[in-house]
Amino acid sequence: MASVATLIDRMAKVHELLRQGTTYSFEFGPPRSDEMEQVLSRTLVALEPLAPTFVSVTYGAGGSTRDRTHELVVSINQSTTMTAMAHLTCACHTRAELVEIVERYRDAGIENILALGGDPPADADLPEGELRYSIELVRLVRSIGDFSVGVAAHPEPHPRSASLTEDRLHTAEKLSEADFAITQFFFEPEHYFELVASVRAHRVDKPIVPGIMPVTSLSSIERMAAMQGSEFPAWLRAKLEAVGDDPKAVRAVGVEEATKLCRALLDGGAPGLHFYTMNRSTATREIYQALGLTSTA
Ligand SMILES: Cc1cc2nc3c(=O)[nH]c(=O)nc-3n(C[C@H](O)[C@H](O)[C@H](O)COP(=O)(O)OP(=O)(O)OC[C@H]3O[C@@H](n4cnc5c(N)ncnc54)[C@H](O)[C@@H]3O)c2cc1C
Repeated sequence: MASVATLIDRMAKVHELLRQGTTYSFEFGPPRSDEMEQVLSRTLVALEPLAPTFVSVTYGAGGSTRDRTHELVVSINQSTTMTAMAHLTCACHTRAELVEIVERYRDAGIENILALGGDPPADADLPEGELRYSIELVRLVRSIGDFSVGVAAHPEPHPRSASLTEDRLHTAEKLSEADFAITQFFFEPEHYFELVASVRAHRVDKPIVPGIMPVTSLSSIERMAAMQGSEFPAWLRAKLEAVGDDPKAVRAVGVEEATKLCRALLDGGAPGLHFYTMNRSTATREIYQALGLTSTA
C-alpha cells in the first residue's frame, strides 16, 4: 500500500507530467475472467518498479467490463505508486450515464480521462450512444470536473474518416479542446511525424504521445492492424516469418523493432511513449532495458 505522502506527491495530471519531461506510460485492459485478473495482477507487480509516469485502463464500449475499468483505475490509484488514467467512450451511452461515470471518477479523486468515440461491439444490439464524436465527451468531462483530458489520434488515419485531410482537421479540433493526445499504434515513424506536422499546421501545439505496440505474435498483430487501419509493413512481416513459430524469437524481433521505433520517435521530438502492454510485462520490460531506461528490467 502506498503511503499518504507518496499518494499526495503522486496525484498528478497527465498534461502537467508532460510539461515536466518525457513521459513513459503503460496501457492495460480490464480483465474478463479470474484467470486474466491474476495475469494482470502479476503484470502490475512486474511493471510498477519501472516507475511509469502514468498508466491507463481501457473501456469496453458496450461491454461487460465497464465497471471493472472503474474498479481497476481506482484501485491502481489508491493501492500502488502509479497514477492511473481512465479511458471512456461515447458509444452506447446516454449523456446521463456518461455524467454519472465521470462524476464517480471525480469523487474517487481520479484526475485523468481519455475521451474516446469507441467502437460498439458488432454482435450486440446496443443503442448508438447520445454523443456522436469524442469532442463532445471532452466538453462533457470538462463541465464536470478539473480533469486532464486526453483524446485519441490516428496516424494512418482513422478507418471511418472520409479522408486523411478531414481526419487531421477533426483531430486538430478535438485536441485544441483537450490537453494531450495518444496515438493508435503504427510501425513507421513517418506516420507519426506526418500526423504531428498536420495538427501543428492547424495551429494546435498540444502534446501528441505515440502509442507503441511491441509485436509478440504475427497472427494477432495482423488482425489488430487490419481492424484499426494500420499498415503492417512487408519488411516487418518478413523478419517475423524468418524466425518461424518460436514465440521467444518472435518477441525478440518485436522488441528489437519496437526499440528502434521508440528511439526514432524520441530523437524526432516525441514527448513520451505509451506502451500497449496487452496486460503482459515481458516485452515492455525488455524495451525499457534496451532503451537504457532501467538497469533492473
Ligand atoms: C490511445 C487510444 C486508446 C483507445 N482506447 C479505447 C478504449 O479504451 N475503448 C474503446 O472502445 N476504444 C478505444 N480506442 C479506439 C477508439 O475508440 C476507436 O478508434 C474509435 O473508432 C474512434 O475513437 P476516436 O476517439 O478517435 O473517435 P472520434 O474522435 O469521435 O472520431 C471518430 C471518427 O469520426 C470522425 N469525426 C470526428 N469528428 C467529426 C465531425 N465533427 N464530423 C465528421 N466526422 C468527425 C473522425 O475523423 C473519425 O473518423 C482507443 C484508441 C486509441 C488511439
